[in-house]
Amino acid sequence: MSRCVAEGWLHLEAAREIFEIAGLNYDEIKVQAAKRRFKAVPLGLTASLTLKNSVKNVTSSNVVALIPGSKRADEYIIYMAHWDHFGRNPALEGDRIFNGALDNATGTAALIELAEAFQKLKRPPLRSIVFLAVTGEEQGLIGSEYYATHPLFLTVKTAAVINMDALNIYGPMKDITVIGYGLSELDQYIEAAAKESGRTVNPDPTPEKGSYFRSDHFPFAKQGVPAVYPSSGTDHIEHGKEWTLAKRDKYTAENYHKPSDEFDPSWDLSGAIDDLRLLFKVGYRLAMESSFPNWNKGTEYKAKRDADMAAVHK
Ligand SMILES: [Zn+2]
Repeated sequence: MSRCVAEGWLHLEAAREIFEIAGLNYDEIKVQAAKRRFKAVPLGLTASLTLKNSVKNVTSSNVVALIPGSKRADEYIIYMAHWDHFGRNPALEGDRIFNGALDNATGTAALIELAEAFQKLKRPPLRSIVFLAVTGEEQGLIGSEYYATHPLFLTVKTAAVINMDALNIYGPMKDITVIGYGLSELDQYIEAAAKESGRTVNPDPTPEKGSYFRSDHFPFAKQGVPAVYPSSGTDHIEHGKEWTLAKRDKYTAENYHKPSDEFDPSWDLSGAIDDLRLLFKVGYRLAMESSFPNWNKGTEYKAKRDADMAAVHK
């Protein structure tokens, strides 16, 4: 099948309107589309589009640090966070600087904190730990895609990738969210670490946003490397779930990808510290083992991993 001439994203409201113009009911088709025997339904509409593009080439870098393993230095655990945001927009009135304080200065700070914690261990773990600050995430996962397809350390020897993108700024949570929960055996490591601190693990509360495909772990998944994106939980110890989700929605509406994503002294980072302790344990345990956690059966990334592992670990 040939690809569309133009591809893009639609807001839900716009999609509903298009279905209506075509005389179709969006909700009905959506239910049908979830069924195995669904066949695509032509909309019978045409559209005229004009796209105006200008291209500017810029150079940017991924930043990589490594703590060599004490026994199996050629096997790796990667912690990752994107360091870029949107720079400046001179067309804006007032504040033109995109600080990206939450997205993703928090993740970048976490990377540095984790590196320091691993560095402070009396003895480095058996496997090497890689700290990867990738660029160009906001422009389409460019830095992570580049690394995953031009890896410094063999992807087949990379046991796991843990991505951090916007930490918890709302305080301690009873749970931790895992974007990509159910996809790989990495879940069990996160569950075990969460249990130790009396926390639970939950899947993404808003999977319709497609978060698994929208941050830097995804290019690794495509290369078969088990990759997760643990994110802040949603069940606040004091205020509960609704409160947390409302806070998150407010951030998304008012500050996400805007110059107003700025540090606020009212942030409560204690929950982020809980999350980082948990992620440290996950990485440490993985770095002390010789096993390679795999994707779960039925996952689209498993075939590539199985083939790569079979070729190398004969
Ligand atoms: Zn981000």
